Order: sequence, then C-alpha cells, then structure tokens
Amino acid sequence: MHTLSIKEMSEGLRAKKFSSRELTAHYLARIERHDGALNSYITVTAERALKHAEAADARLERGDAHTLTGIPLAQKDIFCTLGVKTSCASKMLDSFIAPYDATIVQKLHHDAGMVMLGKCNMDEFAMGSSNETSFYGPVKNPWDTTRVPGGSSGGSVAAVAAGLAPAATASDTGGSIRQPAALCGLTGIKPTYGRVSRYGMIAFASSLDQAGVVARSAEDAAHVLQAMSGFDPLDSTSIERPVDDLVAGLGASIKGLKIGLPKEYFAEGLAASSREKIDAAIKTLQSLGAEIVEISLPNSPLSVPTYYVVAPAEASSNLARFDGVRYGHRAEGVKTLEELYKRSRGEGFGAEVQRRIMVGTYVLSHGYYDAYYLQAQKVRKLIYEDFKRAFERVDLVLGPTATDVAFGLGSKTDDPVAMYLNDIYTIAANLAGIPAMSLNCGFVEGLPVGLQLMGNYFSEARLLNVAHQFQQATDFHKQMPKAYV
Ligand code: GLN
Repeated sequence: MHTLSIKEMSEGLRAKKFSSRELTAHYLARIERHDGALNSYITVTAERALKHAEAADARLERGDAHTLTGIPLAQKDIFCTLGVKTSCASKMLDSFIAPYDATIVQKLHHDAGMVMLGKCNMDEFAMGSSNETSFYGPVKNPWDTTRVPGGSSGGSVAAVAAGLAPAATASDTGGSIRQPAALCGLTGIKPTYGRVSRYGMIAFASSLDQAGVVARSAEDAAHVLQAMSGFDPLDSTSIERPVDDLVAGLGASIKGLKIGLPKEYFAEGLAASSREKIDAAIKTLQSLGAEIVEISLPNSPLSVPTYYVVAPAEASSNLARFDGVRYGHRAEGVKTLEELYKRSRGEGFGAEVQRRIMVGTYVLSHGYYDAYYLQAQKVRKLIYEDFKRAFERVDLVLGPTATDVAFGLGSKTDDPVAMYLNDIYTIAANLAGIPAMSLNCGFVEGLPVGLQLMGNYFSEARLLNVAHQFQQATDFHKQMPKAYV
C-alpha cells in the first residue's frame, strides 16, 4: 500500500479496496518496524491515528469526504498540535503539549480529514542542514544510514522516503524543505511567502519562514499543498488571494516554456557528478518543449551572508519568549529572576540555537545594527530585484538544490560555516519570498540528486506542472531505498 500515490489511495478508499484504518495500521506497522534505525519520528500518535482513521472511514461512508480524507500524513514537530507534544526538537519544549492546532493542522486533519501518524524529527528550532542538532538525536538517510537526510526537515523526508508516511509537512526558512527533499530523493515545495498560514508554526525567522510539503511526486505534493494553502486571518502576513487549482493544471504541456539557468548556480562548488544529472534533466525538459535561456542572478553570492544576519536577528527576537517563566523548560533551584532566565535558556537550548541567538543579538545591538542588519536588508532587496529582472525574461529558474549528494553523519558538525554553505542555492528564494521546489533528477552511486525550480510569486501551479511533466517522462521519483521497499 505504501507504494501507491495519494490519488490511488484516495481512489482505493472510495472503491473500498481498503479502509483508512487498514491503511493507517499499515503505516504504523512500518514505523514500528523501521523507525528504530531512522529516528524520523519524535512522537508516534498510534492510538489517536487509528481513532481518526475510523472517523475518516465513517465520513467516507457518509459521502461527504474530501479527496484526502483517510489518507495518513506526518507533521513536522514545528507545527502545534492540540493535546500532542510539540517539541521543535528542543529540550526547551520537551514537555510542551500544544494548547491549540496550527492552521495547517486544522486544515489538513480536521477540514480535509487526513490522519496524523505522528510528529517528525527535525533540527532544533529548524536550525540546521543535517538534522543533527535535534535534542532527540540525528535522523539517518534511508538511502544510506551512515549519511544525513538533510535538514531541518530531516525527519519528514526520511519518513516519506522510507515509506513511513505517504507525505509530510515541512517548513523552509532557508532551504529546509528543498535541501532535505534533494538529499532523500523526494519532491518538496516551499510556496510563496504568505500562501500558507504560519499560525501555530513555531517561529524561527518570521520574514523567511514558510510551510510546505514533502512527498514522493509533484502530484502527491499538489494534493497536500492545495489543502494547506489559503488566507488565514490569524496570520497577519497571510495573503488574501484565492488559491489556484494546483491539481487541474498538472497535465498541461510545457511546450514553449522559458527556463532560465542562472550562470552563478552552475559555477564552481557544484559537484561534477550532480551537474551531469542536472544537465540530463535539462535535456529531458527540452525534449518536452521547454526553451533554455542563460540568465544571471548577480547578487546570489551574497545570499548566504545576508541570510546569516537576517535569520539569526529574527531568531534572537522570536526565541526571547522562552524565558523559563511562561512555558517550556524551567531550571530548578534558582534564586533570582536573572538566574532563572540564564539557566533555563542555557539548559534548554542546544549549541546551534545558542550560537544563532548570540549572532542575532550582536547584529541587532546598538552600534552594529546599521553595519549588519540594515545592510543585510538592503542586499536582500538586491537579491529580490535579480529575480524580478529574471522573471521578465523567463517563466522559471532552474538550478541545483544542493552542491552534492548527502554527506556523512558527523562530517560537518564541527564546522558551522561548511554547514551553512549547504543552503547556497536555496536561500535566495526565501529572501525574495518566491516559491521554489526540489525534485529528484537521478542518482550518483545510489544517492539522490536534487533539481531546483524557482518561480515568480504565486506560480506554485506552474512549478508543480513542470515537475509533474518531468516525472511523467522519467521514473526517478518512483525509486525507493532497497531496505524499505
Ligand atoms: N539550514 C538553514 C539554517 O540552518 C535553513 C534552515 C531552514 O530552512 N529552516 O538556517
């Protein structure tokens, strides 16, 4: 059952080939069997899932079901889930039970009736590119368990790649949907900033954070993203604009589509073996009728330094709420208020989170604000203008998602800068707020290579259409790691 597409699951449920309870039990059994080796879930909500599956079966029986009713889904542990532990993979929130549901949780599980299997592991507070900063330990890549799955949505991608969930939610502040999707051979999409509500998604860097989905195909991703998207009065940055039909346009021809290849994305730094796969993918798209245009995004080399000023600055402000007073970890045996703050934060946050808070506090402090934060905001504008100019000439921009295939566990943990450089191709889309996705375009020694597509604001339907057409012509997305077939 775990090799079916979401559409096939939906049809199977309707035709009574299997029930949601059976489908859910199948995934729970796979989690039980395989997740010991992968560590992709922090919390598995087995009993609750079976109860919800039965309710979904009753809804299907009544005939008022949504296309996704009864289909299992995993949630990244950054989304608040009423009555269920929501840890953000931090000791700080290890005992936190969310008192409300994030809007996307409401939409996916209540409105659409998807069944939540559990909460996925991630980098602590979504800070990382390897899923090694989690309080609950690293996640392993199902294609090779000595390697990282990518981050921060490492649990979400490992679970889907190993068939421990049909799809999972994820979040992307600087690449956390796309880079792990690339390293685990999945399709992951980060929509336009403001398209999906951030209400109930634990904040990292609010002007960059965006929720999205990882799945095995563009078609599966389209179904889930459709159900998550839309205006939310509870999120002041949510955009009041109708959601396009993401599924209806998947079959459209891409003949005449203009695809821009930014020369900066194909320069040194990109592994030759990955480049070969990307070149082959470009040929496939050309054979489907797309036209290739060379473009330039001249400010892209500035995206990593810009991000590592803006993101920590916003993080230092967002994470100020974890003070040991209201909720989260509280140090014991303290005598003064100051000691309570210091010890609670010192004990509750891991090293990477503390590093970000320190950097962020520094760049916002008196005397440095103009030199760093304000300057970064100006460069951000330049990066946005690069894309604006590009989209006057092309329909979408194509490049690699990551510099190379998945790296070994522990190989970059001692070098934060090497780790930060992982997101060199993904960060610009967050700084500009545009939608972007990653899909598998081949394998190097059995490890997946990611292809990135970036589009203009609100072009999610177009991106998914191009990815779907590519997947109709290839079968990379259908491969599964052998141990989990
Ligand atoms: N790897 C980047 C970081 O550590 C991006 C993380 C993300 O997108 N959440 O900040």
